[in-house]
Amino acid sequence: MRGKTTVYNILKMKKTLKKYLDENRYEHTQGVMYTSAALAMRYGADIEKAEVAGLLHDCAKCIPDAKKVKLCLKNQILMTETEQKNPFLLHAKVGAYIARAKYGVEDEEILSAIACHTTGKPDMSLLDKIVYIADYIEPMRSKAPNLADVRKLAFEDIDVTLFKILSDTLAYLRNSPKNLDSMTMRAYEYYKQQFLE
Ligand code: FE
Ligand code: FE
Repeated sequence: MRGKTTVYNILKMKKTLKKYLDENRYEHTQGVMYTSAALAMRYGADIEKAEVAGLLHDCAKCIPDAKKVKLCLKNQILMTETEQKNPFLLHAKVGAYIARAKYGVEDEEILSAIACHTTGKPDMSLLDKIVYIADYIEPMRSKAPNLADVRKLAFEDIDVTLFKILSDTLAYLRNSPKNLDSMTMRAYEYYKQQFLE
């Protein structure tokens, strides 16, 4: 049983989420939830917020692209040119919208972590970093280069890990530049500058 101080009904959220995600995506989501919680323990972030953000980060992933675009237009969610051309990128922003509208999440930190989990952004909060990294390293992931090293590093130095993932993602996306959102580039440049200081 969870303690009395919890704010969110995670069990109820899981039940709803299960209806909107396919099996693999749901499993991935659980992995991100537990990995986010573990990173929150390591770095002293709010564990429950990390769980909720991890659990809901892909809540819009299985919405058809056309519907995602529609939801953006209807709710004044700004789309970049890259997002319009690659609507799958929109699942992060639309996810934040749905987390609020459907799951009742009002916490701006959680909503921000959901909204930026695909591209990262400059000056990310601790929770933003946790969810971004957890999405990359959760146990079901297998494709990224040097995953074992990144997983270990994630529990040693969160900022070095963040920069490593941003660099690796950018290197990977250089092969398919049309899928590269300018926000990933901005995030990378921001953290590169930080590391050079
Ligand atoms: Fe995602
Ligand atoms: Fe994900």
